[in-house]
Amino acid sequence: MRREKLISNIRNVPDFPIPGIQFKDVTTLFKDSECLQILSDIMYEMYKDKGITKVVGIESRGFIMGPILATRLNAGFIPIRKPGKLPAETIEETYDKEYGTDTVQIHKDALDANDIILLHDDLLATGGTMKAACDLVKRLHPKAIYVNFIIELKDLNGKDIFDPNIEIQSVLSL
Ligand code: 5GP
Repeated sequence: MRREKLISNIRNVPDFPIPGIQFKDVTTLFKDSECLQILSDIMYEMYKDKGITKVVGIESRGFIMGPILATRLNAGFIPIRKPGKLPAETIEETYDKEYGTDTVQIHKDALDANDIILLHDDLLATGGTMKAACDLVKRLHPKAIYVNFIIELKDLNGKDIFDPNIEIQSVLSL
C-alpha cells in the first residue's frame, strides 16, 4: 500500500533532459507530505539496525532525503559534490557517462575508519554515478558501506557494476 502510494505520485516526464529520455520526477514525491513521511519511514526501517554513523548524499537530489534520514538515524550528513563546490581539501573520482565524463568530489576529512556509511541518491540508472561515489568513499576506508536509492530502474541492471559484497537497497524497483 505504502509503495503504491509512492509510485502513483512519481511524475514521468517525456523527453527530459533530452529527446527520447523519460525522466522520473521525484519532486512530486517530496511535495506530498504523506509520501515524504512514507519515504522517511521505509528508509529508516531499512537502516535502523545497521549502526550507520554518516549518510553520504550525492548532489543534488541526494541532498533531500539524505539529511532527513541522517536525522532519524542519529547520523551525520556528508555531501558528495560536483567539482569546485567543496571549499576544503577534496579527493575525486572521474567516471564515464554516455557522452564524455563526470567527476565527483568529497572532503578528504569527511569520514574515517570508524564510520559506517550509507550512500544515498534518488535514482539508480546505469550505476555510474553511485559507483564513482562508492569508490570515492572506499578510499577513506570506512568500516562498512551500504547503498540506497529511492528508485532503481531494474531493466538497466545498474547493480551489476558494484562489488557484490555491498548491500544495495531501493525503496522502489521500477
Ligand atoms: P546513473 O549514473 O545511474 O546512470 O544515473 C543516476 C544519476 O542520474 C542520479 O544522480 C540521478 O539523480 C540522475 N538521474 C538519471 N535519470 C534520472 C531520472 O529519470 N530521474 C531522476 N530523478 N534522476 C535521474
